[in-house]
Amino acid sequence: MDLALLERTLAERGEPAYRARQVWEWTSRGAASYGEMTTLPQRLRRSLEEEVPFSTLEVVAERVSRDGTVKTLFRTHDGHPVEAVLMRYRDGRRSLCLSSQSGCPLTCTFCATGRMRFGRNLTASEILDQALHFRRREPVSHAVYMGMGEPFLNVENVLASAHRLPDLGITHRRTTISTVGWLPGLRRFVDEVAHPIRLALSLHAADPAKRSELMPVNDRYPLADVLAECRRYVALRRRKVFVEVVMLAGVNDSEEDARALAALLDGRSFKVNLIPYNPTGRYEGSSRDAIERFKRVLERARIPATVRLTRGRDIEAACGQLAVTVRGRQLRAARSTAGSSNA
Ligand code: SAH
Repeated sequence: MDLALLERTLAERGEPAYRARQVWEWTSRGAASYGEMTTLPQRLRRSLEEEVPFSTLEVVAERVSRDGTVKTLFRTHDGHPVEAVLMRYRDGRRSLCLSSQSGCPLTCTFCATGRMRFGRNLTASEILDQALHFRRREPVSHAVYMGMGEPFLNVENVLASAHRLPDLGITHRRTTISTVGWLPGLRRFVDEVAHPIRLALSLHAADPAKRSELMPVNDRYPLADVLAECRRYVALRRRKVFVEVVMLAGVNDSEEDARALAALLDGRSFKVNLIPYNPTGRYEGSSRDAIERFKRVLERARIPATVRLTRGRDIEAACGQLAVTVRGRQLRAARSTAGSSNA
């Protein structure tokens, strides 16, 4: 729902200020239409239906994985594709993976999103509408800004959306923003000390040449500066930064790579999350053994490390697999299974 348009529309009709709050309360708690908002006069409900689209996003296709993960492909009013994912865990957690941009202008070599055409930054309402879509389906508990795009290239809208997530049941402590280390946005985020939103850094390789090869953005914002900013976050918020490393066989997964990483980090400020590579064409994923060896090197250096549980790989909903070409194979594949996979 375009919340600015909602407020304008209500103001133009001379409605009292609390009406916008009422509409948001219903919406954030999972109402599926204006019709359900019984505290609003019926005439108002009907005019809102005509004047303020209930969502800024149209659902194009939805797929459900064998593990219960749901991936939804949306389209903005001006035709840009956006994907978001609902991950369901056995312990009851329901975690949303939200996109901050349609596509991504960065070109990390292992990530499929960088290969699709970059569209634009999403508005705060377009980010929230991804979350609201799933909230209408079931209660949700966590959110990660790990979908399409680089959140800190769109930091204002990302933060504006994150600040409304508690109304959907997702506290700031259960919200994580992941970045490649885009410094201007990262600084802006760290400066805003009032909220306990979590931070994750996609690090991938400690060696500068290797990191630049995997993530060209490293040439622009060197890792030393980015880590200094992460340490400022730790000092201000007293919470650790998650460090993400996607494990690529023979590229960044040797024990030497692990030692180089350990030398950069410290266990008081960082916690490492090793991500099994989800196939996107170019690399081989590391073996389980290699990942375990890497993890042990970190743990010997007293750096806590976990291995990320892979979800939704069979429907291309896993990390790094969100990519759509509007007339491309994936969208057609998505369309052909939409509807049938919900059974
Ligand atoms: N641009 C931000 C937000 C996207 S997060 C960032 O990069 O942090 C997406 C996470 O998935 C990142 O940690 C990214 O490095 C990781 N990822 C990308 N491609 C992947 C792949 N093919 N397999 C596993 N993880 C991948």
